[in-house]
Amino acid sequence: MFYFGGCHCGKITFEVEGEFTQAIDCNCSLCRRRGGLLAFVPRGSLRLKTSVENLSTYKFNKHVIQHHFCSTCGTAPFAEAEDKNGEKGAAINLRCLPDFDLDSIEIIKFDGKGYQ
Ligand SMILES: [Zn+2]
Repeated sequence: MFYFGGCHCGKITFEVEGEFTQAIDCNCSLCRRRGGLLAFVPRGSLRLKTSVENLSTYKFNKHVIQHHFCSTCGTAPFAEAEDKNGEKGAAINLRCLPDFDLDSIEIIKFDGKGYQ
């Protein structure tokens, strides 16, 4: 299934393919402030429709995850990282898919407190 996603103002838009049945609600020092619901896909399942230059990026802790956000509206639609094998993946903030029914999925609490 394909979903449209993006930030609030439209400076960042994308299409993502996935069958989302659950999402991660993480309590790390970043996520507890930002409040996204994350689902993971291979990076190839995410197609950015706006310029990559429109992405602002924040890194913390080990600096292995690129937490992208919009510098205009402040929303954070997705993050990118590589796994141990060098495979590129994306963590989609399902809250940034306007047509996705968040009540249809299971929310899994992830204890990320160790990730300062
Ligand atoms: Zn925006």
